[in-house]
Amino acid sequence: MSRVELRGLAKSFGPVQAVKDVTLEIPDHAFVTLLGPSGCGKTTTLNMLAGLEKVTRGEILVDGQTITDWAPHERGMAMVFQNYALYPHMDVYGNIAFALKLQKVPKADIDRRVRRVASALEVEKLLQRRISQLSGGQQQRVALARAMVKEPKVFLFDEPLSNLDAALRTRMRIEIKRLHQQLRATSVFVTHDQEEAMILSDYIAVMRDGEVVQYGRADEVYRKPNHIYVGTFIGKPRMSIMEGRLTVDGQTGGMVFSADGVRIAWAGVPGRPAKAMEVEVSLGIRAEDVKILAAGADGDGTMTGEVNLLEPLGSDTYVELANGKVSITARTEPDRGIGLGDKVVVQLARPKLHIFDGKTGARIEP
Ligand code: ATP
Repeated sequence: MSRVELRGLAKSFGPVQAVKDVTLEIPDHAFVTLLGPSGCGKTTTLNMLAGLEKVTRGEILVDGQTITDWAPHERGMAMVFQNYALYPHMDVYGNIAFALKLQKVPKADIDRRVRRVASALEVEKLLQRRISQLSGGQQQRVALARAMVKEPKVFLFDEPLSNLDAALRTRMRIEIKRLHQQLRATSVFVTHDQEEAMILSDYIAVMRDGEVVQYGRADEVYRKPNHIYVGTFIGKPRMSIMEGRLTVDGQTGGMVFSADGVRIAWAGVPGRPAKAMEVEVSLGIRAEDVKILAAGADGDGTMTGEVNLLEPLGSDTYVELANGKVSITARTEPDRGIGLGDKVVVQLARPKLHIFDGKTGARIEP
């Protein structure tokens, strides 16, 4: 069992409030990612969890027990750092064995445990090599092995893949995922890479300015962002956003969006009452939820635009189209014969719309 709770966690460095008020419940076995741009307080939060940084305010609990002031080695956690933090003058064996030697684990046990994790991470042939003789990917594996050998209750990862090239990064990502599926140890992972967060995580905490904006299951954060910040941070290509006015008819449930000469209308759904409103909104939609219709088509939630960018990826093509200041990206299959400058009709499925308050950015449900 290792359920981790952060309660109202805060950290100041002099006048800088690096972490303001972070509350998270991390279930046993879960893989949780702290996601956000540089400087939002991810690393500071992780360091407090590891005991490497003193807490200014708040509490940390593991399995219901308060560990806020415990020393790092008492916490049963192991951290994998961005720069690996390996001991360069030691060989791979020495690096992996180091923490166990400090704990005075009997030599035969150390040997057995080192060889077992070295085999799991496919570095057993490298055990006698010095760290300086390893590639970046091999060093990353040794760093993982060194964390794993401690058999921690909780794994902490601080952007462990950011120093690797793109191909290796993708491979190591899969290995970390596989490792987690085998060990099922509670894991907290820090990254600014939303794709990495989506692929690895059970739960994602999206952070901004020292606070958590949304915390939920990865698919939920993607499908139902509670704020425009989350909606546009997660997902590739970026969610299209249209600024304008939304009118919802409380009687019929019909809805009209208007902006800069563009008008998009959706009929109401019988038996599904709506909240009447007329508000400035930022209307969001993801590329996979925008459908390109046959030329001249009409219907619910349609608009016409002119194609101004085509991004063929092989498997799919992203089509960016504009009508005045309104711009939308649609995902389509390749070979649709769409060209730059073409006028196309797109349909925005109503259930897939993300309606954000034009002023606060908070999600609105009509
Ligand atoms: P990155 O992805 O760049 O590492 P981050 O989200 O992990 O960013 P933190 O490293 O936690 O962010 O930093 C949060 C804020 O606290 C930043 O404004 C940073 O400049 C500040 N900060 C972090 N450590 C210290 C420190 N030791 N002294 C003063 N300010 C600090």
